[in-house]
Amino acid sequence: MNFLRCSIVLFLIYIALKISLCVPPGIPSSLKALPIAGHFDFEHVHHAAKDFGNTYSFLPLAVLHPKSASDIATTVKHIWHMGPGSRLTVAARGHGHSLQGQAQAHRGVVINMESLPGSKMQVHTGNFPYVDVSGGDLWINILHETLKHGLAPKSWTDYLHLTVGGTLSNAGISGQAFRHGPQISNVHQLEVVTGKGEVMRCSEKQNSDLFYSVLGGLGQFGIITRARILLEPAPKMVKWIRVLYTDFATFARDQERLISVKSRFDYIEGFVMINRTGLLNNWRSSFNPKDPVQASQFKSDGRTLFCLELAKYFNPEEIAVVNEEVTSSLSQLNHIPSTLFQSEVPYIEFLDRVHISEIKLRSEGLWEVPHPWLNLLIPRSKIHSFAQQVFGNILTNTSNGPILIYPVNKSKWDNRTSAVLPEEDVFYLVAFLTSAVPCSRGSDGIEHILSLNRRILEGGFGVKQYLPHYSTKGEWRSHFGPQWEAFVQRKSTYDPLAILAPGQRIFQKATPFSL
Ligand code: FAD
Repeated sequence: MNFLRCSIVLFLIYIALKISLCVPPGIPSSLKALPIAGHFDFEHVHHAAKDFGNTYSFLPLAVLHPKSASDIATTVKHIWHMGPGSRLTVAARGHGHSLQGQAQAHRGVVINMESLPGSKMQVHTGNFPYVDVSGGDLWINILHETLKHGLAPKSWTDYLHLTVGGTLSNAGISGQAFRHGPQISNVHQLEVVTGKGEVMRCSEKQNSDLFYSVLGGLGQFGIITRARILLEPAPKMVKWIRVLYTDFATFARDQERLISVKSRFDYIEGFVMINRTGLLNNWRSSFNPKDPVQASQFKSDGRTLFCLELAKYFNPEEIAVVNEEVTSSLSQLNHIPSTLFQSEVPYIEFLDRVHISEIKLRSEGLWEVPHPWLNLLIPRSKIHSFAQQVFGNILTNTSNGPILIYPVNKSKWDNRTSAVLPEEDVFYLVAFLTSAVPCSRGSDGIEHILSLNRRILEGGFGVKQYLPHYSTKGEWRSHFGPQWEAFVQRKSTYDPLAILAPGQRIFQKATPFSL
């Protein structure tokens, strides 16, 4: 009995010591005293110091599990009232799929957005259908819900297990963007908690400056608690096509022709294959062509190949017309004739394709490895010299992961948002989706991959980083270019104490703004 009592006392001392060592005095109790429906967790905070990138880890002081937007507002307002002297910052964490600690807050408060239930997802049918969702909802759940009404969002990311707030803070780009623009072009309205703790509705008509600031705003101006997303009728099936090229110029010419006005396709992407044997598949998706024999017989002979990936949505009764249209469109392309691979899959399977690979990689322990990804937006005028330099000189043997490359039309982006883009009407998304082998010092190790990333960036080529990551103000200033002053101005309006999104490392809390 004595032993048991002694153990309990020792355990309690250990817990008390642990808490007092980890947490500055005063702050936890002031947070604990806040009148919120959700709760703060000061103990189980380690998961909030991790992200998909697996290279940055900052332990927060607390994780807030909010039950409403008002919980978030109360917390941010409390920190705002602490004034510039307090170092406390706040990071909204969506699904934690950032690459470089963007959703982390060193010794700050991380808000677990997925705890935010909001009201039930509401789908509005009619001529201009939309759905009202929580900022912490996953896109995959929005897809499931809207499909019950025969509807779906227009613009996607390749992977759907990401949150609304997380992708709208960046842009949300995938193969539909050439036609519908990114996800930030397909939002009607937002509810946002600003850096002063105010809950504000905003749209093109109401508080429009806040609306456009937040879209593509890297979480700097407010926390998205609700969003109204545009919908369209959902197809049942997708015709999924891949064709190969050996010549980059021919590949790019075909891609650009396809994204121009009257494209018959609903999705256009592409990727690069360097020295690959499994030609058509990579972790990004499992593509099973109707004619697997033909696909398996194709030999790359060590060449770098470019794969154009297309999709056409359809309903089963339209199949004859769709086949005709697709055949006619494909006949105008200049791919290697023997490399036409096709498949027909349900719409949901097509959109959720990366998740199938995720399950497989997780089972092999290959999902939670370091991901030193590099995502670039490159103006069309520079894409040929970029391809020559990168695929001809820098990445000649292997790529350590898929490389996506496809053009989009800038006219589908709204230049009032915070997203930073190249200057030209057409630009390419080029995504190096690399995985590193932990502790390796070889060509698959993180140091080597980062050195390749640096070489790719050194080329110039007028690139803008997508999902940007910089550490100095000078680098951020040059990233934003002429938009920097407007960005700083917006920050001083909506989050003047720089409480929000500390993980982006753009503004330091309590540092006065200087232009
Ligand atoms: P988090 O990583 O949790 O947060 C990202 C940033 O947004 C942080 O700064 C955070 O503070 C902020 N934030 C989060 N929630 C909110 C909110 N509610 N309000 C305000 N700020 C908030 N991107 C594409 O565009 N296209 C793709 O095809 C694509 N494919 C991907 C595939 C995979 C496998 C992965 C891992 C990522 C992919 N991404 C893609 C990148 C992805 O869009 C970003 O990493 C995104 O930020 C992740 O969303 P998240 O919900 O995990 O956000």
